[in-house]
This record gives sequence, structure tokens and C-alpha cells, in this order.
Amino acid sequence: MLNSTVVGRVDINPELMILQVKPDAGVPSFHPGQYVALGLTGAHPRYDGAPDEAEIPAADKLIKRAYSIGSSPMVGDYFEFYIAIVPNGALTSRLATIKPGDRIFSQPKVTGTFTLEGIPEAHNLVLVSTGTGLAPFMSMVRTPSTWTAGRRITVVHGVRYPQDFAYAEELSSYVAARDGFTYLPIASRAPESFAGRKGRVQALFEKREIELNPATDHVFLCGNPAMIDDLERDLTTKLGYTVHSKKAPGHLHVEKYW
Ligand SMILES: Cc1cc2nc3c(=O)[nH]c(=O)nc-3n(C[C@H](O)[C@H](O)[C@H](O)COP(=O)(O)OP(=O)(O)OC[C@H]3O[C@@H](n4cnc5c(N)ncnc54)[C@H](O)[C@@H]3O)c2cc1C
Repeated sequence: MLNSTVVGRVDINPELMILQVKPDAGVPSFHPGQYVALGLTGAHPRYDGAPDEAEIPAADKLIKRAYSIGSSPMVGDYFEFYIAIVPNGALTSRLATIKPGDRIFSQPKVTGTFTLEGIPEAHNLVLVSTGTGLAPFMSMVRTPSTWTAGRRITVVHGVRYPQDFAYAEELSSYVAARDGFTYLPIASRAPESFAGRKGRVQALFEKREIELNPATDHVFLCGNPAMIDDLERDLTTKLGYTVHSKKAPGHLHVEKYW
């Protein structure tokens, strides 16, 4: 049942971690933006002090949840995930105690349509995330085929506190190294002393720090459903964006985490 091994773990802070998982069968081919299910059994230990569970899962029950892949498909050896520990979450209260060498389930089939497939090379990407919703965008910007000639790429990362800015160093390095790349980190509960952007990601659009051309700018929204609902409403009603689906292609792409 547990078909993979944890090969790396980086704690960003007590509630956020980056996890690297190596499937026994190797990493299957996938497109940046897709996800897999990870799972642990009910027997896996929860973190010290985790709130009591309303329903205790059976020891042999596999608890599975979806996680966006943060690594590029070019990394053939392991998947990377960026995971928030939800205090009374059935799976994440167990993932909190996982360590390199531990066994874990990873779904052999990768799924999801939140990808760059079908987007013209000349079109720009505005990749808007809150929290761990940054993961699929890390996979995209880590993959060379995303960086088509002349394309502008903007990554927005909204968090609550400045200590939640995972991947800031890597994303800042792209600003220096690549033409047309913009990184906009913003913290909604930053202290007065914080020198960076303060507020919600929606404010970047309201204050026109991000200006969109619906004909050429594809907007991807990932993470907290409240942020997605707000921006989806504004971009469809004010700018004429339509939500993308396989049947009806549009320039607004959404992935809600819950
Ligand atoms: C397509 C897809 C991709 C996803 N990718 C990621 C990812 O890359 N990283 C990640 O951390 N999560 C991701 N999620 C969310 C993930 O699947 C789980 O829902 C989450 O880890 C909680 O699982 P749990 O069993 O611990 O909590 P559960 O016991 O299932 O409790 C779920 C409840 O926790 C809350 N919740 C869920 N996720 C969060 C969150 N991130 N922050 C705060 N509250 C939350 C919601 O209120 C939800 O109803 C993704 C979800 C989907 C649908």
C-alpha cells in the first residue's frame, strides 16, 4: 500500500513544509500544474498536541488527499510538495510527523487540467497563489518550456505572515536572471515594521499594480477559495475573462484547494 519513500523534508515554519517523495516505480510523466494523491494509514502517529479526532480512522485505513506537484517533470527522481499542516486535518496531522526514510503512498497516476497545455507561446502568464497554492507555479517556473521567448511571467504569492514566504529566494533569483519575470510577495498580517507589500492579493489588482490584457494574459488562481471567488468574480465581470475548461477554453484557470 505504501509505495514511496520520503527522501527530503524542509520545515519552512511549524505549519509549512516542503516534502520530497520518491515513488518506488519512479516519477511518472506529468505536466507542471498537475497533482497526485498522497496517503498515510490511520496508524501513522499524529503530532504531539494534535486536537482529538472526532472519528478515529482504522489503523489500516489509507487517508488520501490531493497535492500539487511543486517540482519540474525534469526532476526524474522524486516529487516535491509544499504542504500546510491543518491542525485537526486527518492527513496533515499525520504528515506533520513524517521524516526522511518513512514510507508513504503516492498515487501512481498524475491528474489535473490546471496546466499550460494549449496556451500560445506568445501569451503571458499571471500566476496568483495564496499559501501552498504556490506549488503548481513552482513546477511551471522550474520547467524550461514555460519560458517561451518574449513571454512575461508574474508570480503573486499571498501569505499571512512574512515567515510564510517559502521559495522567496528561488523566485527572487529568477527576477535577477530572467527578462520579463515579476515576483510579487504580499503578506496580509505583516507587522508594521515589515518593509514588503502588505495586504491581500486582491489589492494588487484593485490598485492596478497588476494590469491585465484579457486577450494575451492567462491568469491562474490557486489556493484559498475565498481569494479565487473574489478574483474570479472581478476578472469575469469587469474584464470579460472566461473560466477555462477543456470543453470551453478560456484565459482564466482556477484550482481550489478546499
Ligand atoms: C487539486 C488539489 C491540490 C491540492 N494541493 C495542495 C498542496 O499542494 N498543498 C497543500 O497543503 N494542500 C493542497 N491541497 C489540499 C489538500 O488536498 C488537503 O485538503 C489538505 O492538506 C488538508 O487535508 P487534511 O486531511 O489534513 O484535512 P481534512 O481532515 O481533510 O480537513 C479539510 C479541511 O481543512 C481545511 N483546509 C484544507 N486545506 C487547507 C489549507 N491548505 N490551509 C488551511 N485550511 C485548509 C478546509 O477547511 C478543509 O475543509 C490540494 C487540494 C486539491 C483539491
